[in-house]
Amino acid sequence: MQQHSGQHLLSAVLEKHFAAKTISFHLSADVETIDIDRAEITPEQLAAVEREANAQITANLPVRIRYVDRTEAESLLAAGRLRKLPPREGRIRLIEMEGLDLNACGGTHVRSTGEIGALLLRRTEKIRSGLRLEFLCGQRAIAAARADDQLLRQLSVLLSAGRAEMLAAIERHQAERKSLVKEKEALREELAALLAANLIFEPGRLREWQPAKECVTPTDSARLDAPLLRMIASKAIAANPASALLAWLPLGERVSVVLAAGKEAGIDSGKLLKEAMQQLGLRAGGSRDLAQTELLADSLAVLLSSLREQVLAMGWKQ
Ligand SMILES: [Zn+2]
Repeated sequence: MQQHSGQHLLSAVLEKHFAAKTISFHLSADVETIDIDRAEITPEQLAAVEREANAQITANLPVRIRYVDRTEAESLLAAGRLRKLPPREGRIRLIEMEGLDLNACGGTHVRSTGEIGALLLRRTEKIRSGLRLEFLCGQRAIAAARADDQLLRQLSVLLSAGRAEMLAAIERHQAERKSLVKEKEALREELAALLAANLIFEPGRLREWQPAKECVTPTDSARLDAPLLRMIASKAIAANPASALLAWLPLGERVSVVLAAGKEAGIDSGKLLKEAMQQLGLRAGGSRDLAQTELLADSLAVLLSSLREQVLAMGWKQ
């Protein structure tokens, strides 16, 4: 009842003071919305609508029901006194909020606008026909404000900041995060360069590398992931243009596999990996220099031997 009467009042305020017509409304278990024929509304206008709606609630206008016949209803509509008239014959039931609104409606209403309690406008959303406004009345408005307050308290604890400082705290966290990500990327580049420099290649021999077994310290392999494996392979091959590298890294149930070949190796990594994966019924791509794929650990042995076979067939040694 509070929500429905609140909708009448809000629609009337929007039309009277802000020239915005209500196209439709929706009352549900947890949120009320009305759609208006306006493309946008500024936060200041929204606050003004809310202020005016609450002033009309505080004014405690009597809400009355009266019945008119179709002809009278039509003349009221023509005179601009009736906000809406459904296409119905016979007696028309009108709900009047004294001095504010006259609307045809069959619903149950409060006896005076004061019973609506309060009206809280929430978020707005652009829709095809205009703008959707979310609102809540009475106890629901209080409950929503209470939930917001609870959320702000939790955020305040998480951020170790009072309400006035919360925005600045989030901005600080974001800036810190950005610089940490940058620092992490620089460290990964450095780690990749170090691990690539440690890889020793023999001419004409396919270099196989399983970092989990060969890394200098356990932390090196613990910090490895598929993009880093790729980065290392690319650096190693750039420094050894006549070499080829086959590297793999277990990632839980899956394994990342990289085949990389230097400019002078005469090996098309993308083509070889694609063909080897095809034998397993899987797909892969990649460039001549470097190709990477991921597959289930069960299939790794088959993929590796197929790749070796292809490389050895080109006259390389294992
Ligand atoms: Zn109604």
